[in-house]
Amino acid sequence: MEQIKYIIKERAEKIVLPEKLGFGQIFTDHVFEMDYNPKKGWHNPTIKPIDSLPMHPATSFIHYGQTIFEGMKAFKTINDEVVLFRPDVHIQRLNNSARRICMPEVDVNFVVEALKELVAIDSDWIPAKRGEALYIRPFMFGTDPALGVRPSFEYKFVIVLSPVGAYYPEGFKPVKILVQDDYVRAVRKGLGECKTAANYAASLLATEEAVRKGFTQVLWLDGVEQKYLEEVGTMNIFVTFKNEVATPNLNGSILPGVTRRSVIQILKEWNMNIVERPISIQEVISSYEKGDLLGVFGTGTAAIISSVGWLTYKDKNMTLNNGQPGELDTKLFNELTGIHRGEKEDEHGWIYKVEKKDFAVS
Ligand SMILES: *Cc1c(COP(=O)(O)O)cnc(C)c1O
Repeated sequence: MEQIKYIIKERAEKIVLPEKLGFGQIFTDHVFEMDYNPKKGWHNPTIKPIDSLPMHPATSFIHYGQTIFEGMKAFKTINDEVVLFRPDVHIQRLNNSARRICMPEVDVNFVVEALKELVAIDSDWIPAKRGEALYIRPFMFGTDPALGVRPSFEYKFVIVLSPVGAYYPEGFKPVKILVQDDYVRAVRKGLGECKTAANYAASLLATEEAVRKGFTQVLWLDGVEQKYLEEVGTMNIFVTFKNEVATPNLNGSILPGVTRRSVIQILKEWNMNIVERPISIQEVISSYEKGDLLGVFGTGTAAIISSVGWLTYKDKNMTLNNGQPGELDTKLFNELTGIHRGEKEDEHGWIYKVEKKDFAVS
């Protein structure tokens, strides 16, 4: 692979972040980009000022949806260091998504190094308060200007960075979830286990309808029988029963979350009985009625851990843990955010340090 080319924007004034950051609203000064064609492979890796992408109206991904992405975070630790959380696993997952829709893979080590460079250059954009982070969005799309239905020959890979606010600015709060059975997100052997734009397109209407009814998110059931839990919104789901913590097994239609994987490992280390298995909505309801359902929580990069306070399925309304965050959910949230912020030892090798660059204006 060639050396990265740098085109650095000189900043005249200091970066001032808005008080309310929100999610994905503002972007840093630079992006990483590279191009692919079958002859040269990946080439032209460049870090440069963020700008619009010029595009032919027939660009293939716009028409046939060959587009995938990742979502991860960089954090400022309590010692003012800059760290990434498991970037290698995220880029490996990007390659899994790429293979599934006939896109070229990237070199994981090269992309992780490029990502560290980009984050180092824009490190003054990383907010430092608890819960705040620099959201990292790598993505890839087919760029052939042609309307024939076939995989694109040429591709672009881009990484953009966005400082994001705390998901829970007023403290860790449970969410209200509607179990969705009017629509499905994905089916087994489809695209469910890949981070493709297509899965999000399939999910928008159901979520809009749930939000209109006063819910925060939807809980998806399996696409075949609509009996088994799959995921909640953009998160994986865990159910705390009296005698075990369970999460749906990765059956092909569920996105294998990096947070999910990390939570499973932590729970094992805490000697909890954590099992990956099918969980039916009927089992959740009958456990609730017996008083054996202690809580439900979601896991994902954006919220880290999200406690479910209220769960509605058809005309059955369940209030979990009196609408308060569960004990385990809070403990996991503190553990993971503690690792991100450097308050807790990184015993797993999940944290990648970013060496700061001199040319970041301070
Ligand atoms: C990204 C994503 C998740 C969470 O994955 P993390 O790696 O933990 O951020 C869960 N479900 C869906 C559908 C997703 O796209």
